[in-house]
Amino acid sequence: MHQRFIGKNVLVTGASAGIGEAIAIRFAQEGASVAINYSRNDAGGASTARQVRQAHAEGGFDGASVFIHKADVSDEPSVKGMFESVLGEWGRLDVMINNAGIQKPAPSDESLTQDFDRILGVNLRGCYMCSREAIKHFLTRPGGGVIVNNSSVHEIIPKPQYLPYSVSKGGMENLTKTLALEYADRGIRVNAVGPGAIVTPINMSWINDPAAKKVVESHIPMGRAGDSEEIAAVFAFLASDDASYITGQTLFACGGLTLFPEFRTTWSS
Ligand code: NAP
Repeated sequence: MHQRFIGKNVLVTGASAGIGEAIAIRFAQEGASVAINYSRNDAGGASTARQVRQAHAEGGFDGASVFIHKADVSDEPSVKGMFESVLGEWGRLDVMINNAGIQKPAPSDESLTQDFDRILGVNLRGCYMCSREAIKHFLTRPGGGVIVNNSSVHEIIPKPQYLPYSVSKGGMENLTKTLALEYADRGIRVNAVGPGAIVTPINMSWINDPAAKKVVESHIPMGRAGDSEEIAAVFAFLASDDASYITGQTLFACGGLTLFPEFRTTWSS
């Protein structure tokens, strides 16, 4: 394991489960202090904190710390409160990970405006507000900072019946690029990771159903769903100095899903 984040402070939203939990643990394994955000799942938040502490102990990172800040990232006062708390605790933030995300299926013609607002609120507005607060802080100190957003293959692949989700990730691509361009000359890098189908609680509909999982995996060129740890590794790369010349990009980690799998056979010519 690399040790790229010793002495660095990282805030991970949506870290009580799934990919966010794996990201928090990965940064801790590389030596970072970690602030864990989530909005409801207290047991999950506490479990992530335990695993972060364990990673610090196993790595011998005596100076690294962990704390939990429960907040709804779609709510502006809560986001501002979270940054006051993080900066009050550490005085400095180095890496902002916008991971919190939700989805809800519905045929688009039957979908509800309140669900559209809620999903955009968490997935995109939350990312916007957390990025803005992080950048405000990055600009106050030398050295800049790094933002990595959790997007999706649905940043570029339409997802019927998940219109708000698909729109939120499409918007995240533009947010990532726009912020990257706006702050590139001030030491701030902004990138995104685009996972494919990953085994996490958001995919309960198929992860515990072998037949449904087989169908999902039949669509993936590499023939399997991904693990949260494989996605966390990409976040760590993009947040590290190994990616020091990369900004405004989405790195897809999707087993080949963005390669137009329908074209594996030459049906078109
Ligand atoms: P998950 O297991 O359902 O975890 C989602 C996390 O977000 C939880 O910790 C949840 O905690 C938190 N969260 C939800 N609403 C929140 C809010 N308003 N404020 C703060 N935290 C909130 O989902 P996941 O699969 O790990 O997904 C994480 C991210 O990866 C999402 O952005 C998702 O779009 C993206 N992604 C996932 C996949 C996949 O296949 N799993 C693929 C592509 C992209 P609480 O419930 O405690 O609030």
